[in-house]
Amino acid sequence: MENNFSYIDENLRIIKENIGEALDKYRSPADNVRIMAVTKTVAPEAVNHAVSLGIELLGENRVQEYQSKADFYDKSAEVQFIGHLQTNKVKYIINTVSMIQSVDSLRLAQEINRLALNNGRVMDILCEVNIGGEESKSGAAPQELHAMLEQLSLLEGVRVRGLMTIPPQTDSDIYLGRMSELFTKLSAENISGVSMEILSMGMTHDYAQAIRFGSNLVRIGTGLFGARDYSKK
Ligand SMILES: *Cc1c(COP(=O)(O)O)cnc(C)c1O
Repeated sequence: MENNFSYIDENLRIIKENIGEALDKYRSPADNVRIMAVTKTVAPEAVNHAVSLGIELLGENRVQEYQSKADFYDKSAEVQFIGHLQTNKVKYIINTVSMIQSVDSLRLAQEINRLALNNGRVMDILCEVNIGGEESKSGAAPQELHAMLEQLSLLEGVRVRGLMTIPPQTDSDIYLGRMSELFTKLSAENISGVSMEILSMGMTHDYAQAIRFGSNLVRIGTGLFGARDYSKK
């Protein structure tokens, strides 16, 4: 049947082609890079169309928006939280997301831990790193990370799986490179109870470069769904 979402098919084809080219050029074609569809402001019908094309991972930024759309989502896709999260909102997502990528403080992790244990589960998390030291962005400072990871490893209700970042837009190669070094260094430190499998970086404007610098999870919104229309939300 025809629908009006064919632009998403074309966008996804281009994204996969660019990912393939980046892997050929900088890494190994066999490397796996997961594509997350970032859904902010996007109608559930468009999100479900992306899922029908093979997208298996959705990224949610806002608790309220997610709650208003969750019932309409195709349940076959995995949902992860990627937005700034206040401790008093963790309770709304603790049972519906498979990972929280935006853990930027011990305090937030402690609340996730408490609620995960109450709900009889372990929550996968990534530590968000403010690699550019930008005041406008959340994320832990790179030099704080080792100590933070050691403390997170003691929490039985959370399991650290890697790092997430949103680098500055200008000179982004420098910051993607720093993130790559940090990820490699922390992996080599083998902190007990902490695994460094996932490096979540790269958005519409920089995913090919992020892959060059070792990303294995790219988070794409506008490149897949088109420009965001905030007036609809
Ligand atoms: C919005 C957003 C993205 C996707 O941004 P695009 O530029 O639309 O691809 C990725 N990650 C986070 C954390 C976001 O908030």
